[in-house]
Amino acid sequence: MAKQDYYATLGVTRDASADDLKRAYRKLAMQYHPDRNPGDKQAETKFKDVNEAYDVLKDDQKRSAYDRFGHAAFEGGGGGPGAGMGGFDFSAAGDLGDIFDQMFGMGRRGGARPRTGADLRQAVEIDLVDAFNGTKVNLRVATRVKCESCDGSGSADKGQAAATCPTCQGAGKVRAQQGFFLIERTCPTCNGQGRVIRNPCRICHGAGTVQRDRSLSVSIPAGVEDGTRIRLSGEGEAGGPGAQNGDLYVHVAVRPHEFFQREQANILMRVPLRMTQAALGDEVEVPVIDGTRAKVKIPPGTQTGDQFRLRGKGFSVLRSAVRGDMFIQVAVETPQNLTPKQRELLEAFEAEAKSSVKGSPDHEGFFAKVAAFFEGGRG
Ligand SMILES: [Zn+2]
Ligand SMILES: [Zn+2]
Repeated sequence: MAKQDYYATLGVTRDASADDLKRAYRKLAMQYHPDRNPGDKQAETKFKDVNEAYDVLKDDQKRSAYDRFGHAAFEGGGGGPGAGMGGFDFSAAGDLGDIFDQMFGMGRRGGARPRTGADLRQAVEIDLVDAFNGTKVNLRVATRVKCESCDGSGSADKGQAAATCPTCQGAGKVRAQQGFFLIERTCPTCNGQGRVIRNPCRICHGAGTVQRDRSLSVSIPAGVEDGTRIRLSGEGEAGGPGAQNGDLYVHVAVRPHEFFQREQANILMRVPLRMTQAALGDEVEVPVIDGTRAKVKIPPGTQTGDQFRLRGKGFSVLRSAVRGDMFIQVAVETPQNLTPKQRELLEAFEAEAKSSVKGSPDHEGFFAKVAAFFEGGRG
């Protein structure tokens, strides 16, 4: 296979300067770029030839080898990553980045086709009791699903696979030299898929996916905490042709409960008591998160803030049989809107209380100190 002279390919003379080469290369690469010549085999070949010629001539060492030995200088082995492309090493295709940037600037054809489907995020709110028991929630997710018309291939030609991308030769990536750096980027022609669709599906326009509302049922495990993120692998948006689906992340928010307040594996419950219950002692029945009831013994003389522990009546720990405890925190309520009879009884109680120092030790102690404080201040 006779190869054209590299200088002739770029349309420059043998004494062309680096700038001349660059200018000629840019002009031709733009002209024959596959994005501007979709389906044109000749342009595709030309584009490759231009890149190959420039790759050699821009490098002083390679250029002098070429000047002395011609194409023979680069034949036989050592083709590197581009070995399958007639010795053209794509990794060294200088300034390709610039070209692509310019192509981008001129507007890319078609819609972007992501490599992997996008991840989706969906928030759900559940009751604390459901969080305790575990539950199932039904979600309606607006997402992209596989196009049925083309079975996700994106191609209108039934069963016909897409063609290998002419820009990256199916690698999905191109490498470009930028100064000292070799930068690898997603191939802009095929968006990293390595394949391009010649005859796009009329329903999905080559994307392989279509927008659709999907219903799905999600199991929320028992013991789930507020703010938990559940990952459903592959339940995100469908990927493009041959690509993987994204994931669906379900963010679980747990609504505050009117009785139960969760603190890790424990549950705190505030129970208001009548002043007399607290003073005389009593037994109260409280609800438990598992739907049962529990009795709590209130000893005589219970104060606001006193806590009683019910072992094993707390929250279940995620993925275990262990349960935390429930803490009952008492608040003593001062009676209001007294009936005449209550008033009478409490007045009698008060008269009695004044003669009993032991009945309210905090109260007595406090006012004894206040009296001492005033006397001390005068002295
Ligand atoms: Zn490509
Ligand atoms: Zn389709």
